[in-house]
Amino acid sequence: MPEPREDCLFCRLAREGDHVRRAEGFVAIRDINPQAPVHLLVLPERHVDTFRDVAEFPADEARRMLEFVAEAAADAGLTDYRVVVNVGPGGGQTVFHLHWHVLGGSRMEETL
Ligand code: AMP
Ligand code: ZN
Repeated sequence: MPEPREDCLFCRLAREGDHVRRAEGFVAIRDINPQAPVHLLVLPERHVDTFRDVAEFPADEARRMLEFVAEAAADAGLTDYRVVVNVGPGGGQTVFHLHWHVLGGSRMEETL
């Protein structure tokens, strides 16, 4: 696995953030600026700039990452929710370390 990047916010938070869930290779944290009653971010420890480069994950790790997203949502008590990945500045990405937004909660129907 590539070394974490010192200048990357999400490499740092994957290492030492306030994790709501952790498994080998992945963590979930609360978004600092929530857009829904539950707004988690799933961060792989591996630094990959964007979803465009998702093929950099070995197949088993990519599968475990998706399972981790589903488990983090279930753990947070969500059955209905959205999973969002913003890709590139034009797609709304502001932090260039691949991450998955998990959005849910009682107000979801207003934003769907
Ligand atoms: P994106 O715009 O898809 O790149 O998402 C970046 C997300 O990271 C935004 O929803 C921010 O609110 C969130 N964020 C930025 N800094 C922090 C932080 N220190 N802790 C938790 N979430 C953060
Ligand atoms: Zn990073």
